[in-house]
Amino acid sequence: MSWIKIDENTYRYEDKGVRFFLLMGTEHALLIDSGMQVHNAKELAGELTTLPIKLFNTHTDPDHIGSNEEFDTVMMNPAELVNYRKPYSSQTIEPIYDGDTIDIGGRPLKAIALPGHTPGSTALLDVKSGKLFSGDPIQDGKIFMFGPMRNISAYILSLKRLLKFKEEIKKIYPCHGTCPVDISLVPKLIEGAEKIEKGEILPEPFEMFGHKVNAYDVGIAVFLCDD
Ligand SMILES: [Zn+2]
Repeated sequence: MSWIKIDENTYRYEDKGVRFFLLMGTEHALLIDSGMQVHNAKELAGELTTLPIKLFNTHTDPDHIGSNEEFDTVMMNPAELVNYRKPYSSQTIEPIYDGDTIDIGGRPLKAIALPGHTPGSTALLDVKSGKLFSGDPIQDGKIFMFGPMRNISAYILSLKRLLKFKEEIKKIYPCHGTCPVDISLVPKLIEGAEKIEKGEILPEPFEMFGHKVNAYDVGIAVFLCDD
């Protein structure tokens, strides 16, 4: 496990089935998520940059917040606070709302909310390069839609709305599955999720972390839903 270069100022870290990203601007570096097995993402980022390092969480499922305790301040969509447990009470949440821009110095990152997988799932669009760091909603692996706070109808609406930005999105960098993926994956995920919503696909029983779930194979990804 180590950093993999995407371009001069962008790296990904493969953390056993989940990945997180490091982006450098002129003023700050930004971690997008903080790992699952790894609990020292900030320290690892320090191997690549001397800039002050900030953290943004695409959402707060356990596989994305492994090193959150390294940060006094964490940026996230406040809708995630229904799920997030601060590692210590004085940690500050810097709210990032849909449409907000995080600027790390010459590198604006636009927040695009994608509720559905979790209430506050939020992608960041690297405006100048067209890279979209999507978190979990857009990927070709297993998309978790079982358990509390997940909603496939909201998911579909979010992806449809994301397509309004399709001219600006050149490549998508998800936290699971193939990386990068093309924007053409999005309409396929919408189509698959709509078939699930309408009951047009038969699920296979599947067990995930001791939960009995329904697995819906839509060809380009598998949605895991409550049974
Ligand atoms: Zn995940």
